[in-house]
Amino acid sequence: MTPFIIPIFISHQGCPQRCIFCDQHTITGHAGLEEEPATSATVKETIEHWLNRPGKERNAGVQVAFYGGSFTGLSGPRQRELLRAVKPYIEEGLVDSIRVSTRPDYIDEATITVLKEYSVSIVELGIQSLDHDVLEASSRGHSAQQSEDAIRLLQEKGFTVGAQLMCGLPGDSTRKLMQTVKKVAGLAPDFVRIYPVLVLKGSGLEKKYREGTYKPLSLARGVALGCRLKTLFDQHGIKVVRMGLQPSEELASKVVAGPYHPSFGELVISRALFKKSRKVLRKTIAARGKCLSIAAADESAFRGPNNVSMKRLAALGMLNGVELIFDKEQARNTVLVY
Ligand code: SF4
Repeated sequence: MTPFIIPIFISHQGCPQRCIFCDQHTITGHAGLEEEPATSATVKETIEHWLNRPGKERNAGVQVAFYGGSFTGLSGPRQRELLRAVKPYIEEGLVDSIRVSTRPDYIDEATITVLKEYSVSIVELGIQSLDHDVLEASSRGHSAQQSEDAIRLLQEKGFTVGAQLMCGLPGDSTRKLMQTVKKVAGLAPDFVRIYPVLVLKGSGLEKKYREGTYKPLSLARGVALGCRLKTLFDQHGIKVVRMGLQPSEELASKVVAGPYHPSFGELVISRALFKKSRKVLRKTIAARGKCLSIAAADESAFRGPNNVSMKRLAALGMLNGVELIFDKEQARNTVLVY
């Protein structure tokens, strides 16, 4: 179950430089706003605002999440100021957990001490790639080793660890991407987010794109890669909690090029279900009269946009004589034949 998230945006705060693909003001829907640095007062105001919103499901707990910058890149006093503002809500049981997003090179014993002191339990790291050349070409400013060390250190200290990964970074290739993904899976973070790279207006990548030195992924390629990554993480039992940036009008208006789709994650899940179904049906194609069973909650993903997956399976002759069942009891993302 997903907790009720109280988002606190610290766009680019704590970042030592701007990564080539990044524009947090656009990504978080704050474009055009001159954002004041978060303070204890704005943190409290945001928490009160969200806690007082009616009708939100809170059975899975309430989580305050500091997004959009490098939390542990803030000065120690500023980190303490912001976390101290959350503390009373934790003590009163109104907030259950705190999550921060940050860079791998800004994790060390000293930062961990601060996070522990204020009950931060989840740290999300922008890993993006574990390939040296890709990190350089993306102006990340840290090494792959620092990412691996940060994940291990956080795990040792008992944090829930999330890893953000990107596909389509400058200098990346399918081989390098899959090497990264296998290494990350081996490090066993608790969850991952997968973001296909978009060329955003005003980003360093836009310049490269316009010069012709960066070629973005097509949507089909982005979905295919997303599907490979998701399948691999599923096999390792690592939750993929998000695929593709949160869609918004703001974001859509700032995308210059790249695999943008407001339902990117659904396209990936749809492709994964199509591939699973095709594999299962290949084995049973000779056995007419069988039932292909899909979780009822996956029906629209199974069918795909405009029924495209069903049409493809039908065109392959794989649905001839096969009865389709959408079962309310069946686990999601499974395909059964009987
Ligand atoms: S990707 Fe992360 S570290 Fe890089 S500029 Fe954006 S928020 Fe800062």
